[in-house]
Amino acid sequence: MIFAERKPIEEILAMIRGHKRVLLVGCATCVAECAAGGEEEVETLAPLLRMALEKEGRKVEIVTKTLERQCEWEFVEELNKLLPEVDAMLSLGCGIGVQALAERFPGTRIYPGVNTSTLALRAEAGLWVSRCAACGDCTLDETFGVCPVARCAKGLMNGPCGGTRPDGKCELDEGSDCAWKLIVERAEAANALDELKKVRKPKDWSNSRHGGPKRVVREDLRT
Ligand code: SF4
Ligand code: SF4
Repeated sequence: MIFAERKPIEEILAMIRGHKRVLLVGCATCVAECAAGGEEEVETLAPLLRMALEKEGRKVEIVTKTLERQCEWEFVEELNKLLPEVDAMLSLGCGIGVQALAERFPGTRIYPGVNTSTLALRAEAGLWVSRCAACGDCTLDETFGVCPVARCAKGLMNGPCGGTRPDGKCELDEGSDCAWKLIVERAEAANALDELKKVRKPKDWSNSRHGGPKRVVREDLRT
């Protein structure tokens, strides 16, 4: 899922300063799964904002709405009928959701209420771990299903840095396994350790964010 965390309330309050009626928009998909911007978080944040604003003596009305997905036009359209009543929107959707709202409603200020950080797996209750950095050139076949782009702190593509801790953790993050330790273990388990002797060519980053804005066309899906 796309992982995000809610911004500090002080930062949110500073953004909506000066507005009279703000629509707080949640998204029931990824940000709900990571407990940052679903309906529950929207309905928790709204009274907190109201209380904080009242304490500051600011008159800002907070209206709430949670969409099934903020990144799909058919759901974004649901906000159309609320638009005349508000002068700003605070989105708890990921960066894609915020931009979809800004694109659909260019005359309304749209503020981001969460920080979007990675593509993550929920490893256990309350713990999400980064698993993909959307590099655009997936080479998990060569690294036995462990992504060194997302999981090696130095993004090393041809083996460990040499600093792996004795317990197998990353030298830069004692809470994370060294990605290359995991890759070697998986290669061993698959009886394919020799495959790691191959020096991989530099990764093709042209399809990543470094290659400029990405635009994907699927002719078979165009109407
Ligand atoms: S190699 Fe690229 S696409 Fe594949 S998991 Fe890693 S970051 Fe994601
Ligand atoms: S210890 Fe492992 S995961 Fe950490 S930077 Fe070095 S090779 Fe990468």
